[in-house]
Amino acid sequence: MSDGAPDHIRVRVPSKVNLFLAVRGMRDDGYHELVTVLQTVSIHDTISVHLDRSAASMHPSARRFMDVALSVDGLPSVPAGEENLVLLAARRLMREIGVGGDRGNGGATAPTTRMHLTKRIPVAAGMAGGSADAAGVLVALNHVWDVGMHRDDLRRIAAELGADVPFCVTGGTALATGIGTATAQVLTRGTCYWVVGITESPLETREVYRVFDEVGEPSGYEPDAVLQALRTGDPEALGASLHNDLEVAAVHLRPRLGEQLEAMRRAGAIGAIVSGSGPTVVALAPDATSSVAIAESVRGEFDRVEIALSPAGGPELSET
Ligand code: ATP
Repeated sequence: MSDGAPDHIRVRVPSKVNLFLAVRGMRDDGYHELVTVLQTVSIHDTISVHLDRSAASMHPSARRFMDVALSVDGLPSVPAGEENLVLLAARRLMREIGVGGDRGNGGATAPTTRMHLTKRIPVAAGMAGGSADAAGVLVALNHVWDVGMHRDDLRRIAAELGADVPFCVTGGTALATGIGTATAQVLTRGTCYWVVGITESPLETREVYRVFDEVGEPSGYEPDAVLQALRTGDPEALGASLHNDLEVAAVHLRPRLGEQLEAMRRAGAIGAIVSGSGPTVVALAPDATSSVAIAESVRGEFDRVEIALSPAGGPELSET
């Protein structure tokens, strides 16, 4: 928390799609083991972070009692209180560096870091919106508080906050195994153009896994074809190799998803899948021009249709 760090910063955090997801089985603790290929896409949330640097609040005795506060705009389905992943991530980082907690006598002048979250990523939609926000906050507070933690250390903390959070700290494209927290970066060539079909009514990840255990079957597929298509930058091959074991459970819960996938294919998509646990449908377009035509033709099928590019990098800081 030196005087060199900025006191106002903004972080843009991209969402993700699972280009490949195969369930390997369930562990004794109830978590599912996966092999998945994740890639960030350009639909993003923004978090503004403002640190109060008034002289009184920056006195060393006050800093020990520093606190964080959050406001949210966008969607009513996003919790604004302590259960928001932005606050959970911020408090986890505070614990790591030994500040905060009981505001005690220092409370009156203790500095508060104010954060404002603007949601664009659909909620409970299989695009890791909450995980992206948690990762973005770790990266932003590491900078604004001048903590100086390396990305690997941030990823260690991130893994305690959720399976997708370590991936979101780095972004890009990764192969994830275990419960999804062990990731390795993947080489890619070129840009993918996606038509993203968003349905406002959410699907809870837990519920989709529960139904998968009842009606689904691990496919035993391997991600080799997806990885090869990414390496060579071949959209047709990528479209043909997209795969998600959870799709059958998502469609079971929401039969309309089957029709939406079909509509994407009819409109010219070279591949279409349910992203993660759904209900977002992502369809790969052959190129930028056709993505506009596909989006136009499926607009009536969804609450919102967006064109997105991938890979979209990781959390991006800018000083404001
Ligand atoms: P994943 O793809 O990682 O399974 P998801 O995209 O399906 O996640 P999220 O958008 O992350 O789901 O939301 C899951 C739940 O987390 C929501 O029901 C919401 O109540 C809660 N939540 C907590 N913090 C946030 C946040 N910052 N943004 C969105 N949801 C949040």
